[in-house]
Amino acid sequence: MNPYRQIPQIDKLLQDEAFAGCNTVLLTQAAREAIEALRSAIGRGEVTSVDREALIREILERYHAFLTPSLQPLVNATGITVHTNLGRSLIDPELFEEAKSVACNYCNLEYDLEAGRRGDRYHHTAEALRQLFGCEDALVVNNNAAAVYLILNTFAAGREAVVSRGELVEIGGSFRIPEVMKASGAILREVGTTNKTHCRDYEEAVGEETALLMKVHKSNYRIEGFSEEVPFADIRAVARTRGLLDYYDLGSAYLPDLPWGLSDYEPSIFRVLADDPSLISFSGDKLFGSVQAGIILGKKELIARLKKNQILRMFRVDKLTLALLERTVLAYRKGEYDKIPTLRMLREPIENLRERAERLNGMLPPIEAEVRESETYVGGGTMPGKKIPTVVLALEGDAVELERQFRARRIIGRIERDSFVLDMRTVREEELSLIAEAGKEIGG
Ligand SMILES: *Cc1c(COP(=O)(O)O)cnc(C)c1O
Repeated sequence: MNPYRQIPQIDKLLQDEAFAGCNTVLLTQAAREAIEALRSAIGRGEVTSVDREALIREILERYHAFLTPSLQPLVNATGITVHTNLGRSLIDPELFEEAKSVACNYCNLEYDLEAGRRGDRYHHTAEALRQLFGCEDALVVNNNAAAVYLILNTFAAGREAVVSRGELVEIGGSFRIPEVMKASGAILREVGTTNKTHCRDYEEAVGEETALLMKVHKSNYRIEGFSEEVPFADIRAVARTRGLLDYYDLGSAYLPDLPWGLSDYEPSIFRVLADDPSLISFSGDKLFGSVQAGIILGKKELIARLKKNQILRMFRVDKLTLALLERTVLAYRKGEYDKIPTLRMLREPIENLRERAERLNGMLPPIEAEVRESETYVGGGTMPGKKIPTVVLALEGDAVELERQFRARRIIGRIERDSFVLDMRTVREEELSLIAEAGKEIGG
């Protein structure tokens, strides 16, 4: 019999009791897609006779997939703490719980509780950031890319922004300094060469059209060998003597001293602020370890001008962002670095990691594994090329196959020296049983 003729009518099929309680709109869509797929399979000769029960199962599977959110949590066992593809920084559950009340209730987002009238959305975090950093003022936008754009558009549209050739960076996900500048209306004035830029290059570039001198952090690459870059303090000095603005796009940025020599590798925000910059900006969710945001710190009158730019409205942050960010800032002020998961993971001593690896090893049979010392990176456009120590659990077996099997269970590891490894730098205590369960399924 012609298999096309065996395909049941949708209306009749959906009256099957297997579909009781299902949402009709979604169910119809699932049924249409399943039948479409069935028709193609018949066309390819893969199906010669229609199995009604199998079709019902297929429709139900598609229906349930519709109801499952696509964005799902997973276990990061790559060892890369600030992993952009895996969501960059984590928020501490306790801290999230505190911020939750602001999202689930009405709040004083733009309401001055004392005066009983309209207030300023930016006031909440600005106050906390001012107190944390001792800077004149602060502004929070959607992300650091928006911060760069806003600053250039406000102060350098139609005029020149001077940047070293060695710092014309491209960050993953299509953020390129020259393109962002162009879009903002600023005219890029490159100085120096790829490997060397001198202070006099900045001095010589300054002219009638110059609006600001900008330094950009080399987030994801290093220039080795015969190379020289100008420290921000010197760029700032040139800007001040010429009556220009200076701006440092820090990209990622951190506060407290970090172990593993990370603090010598890149300056902390405090060390940059000690140079008294006009403006700096950085990401909220890289090393700062909070929610996605662009944080701008600087002089009061400059922040006031940024707030007057209409474009700020397009980069406006949500109350949930502000609530989470303010609580991260408070944790910093109280010195509670363990409330900032990115810092907690980066600072965790090697003994802890080894102990966790041993424990997981004990839970993992039937898969054989070995605890090994290794190295990993911070990631996310921070500290390029800088290795930090870690401990991994290297599993025995086909590395490619294991990687695939664990990934299918939303556990992402990495392959190192032909072994599939789970890196303890980014695996948390509460995730061990999840990994062990997956191990049982895979090895059993
Ligand atoms: C990461 C980065 C940006 C972009 O920041 P987002 O918060 O991802 O928008 C801009 N500049 C530099 C130097 C960076 O490292």
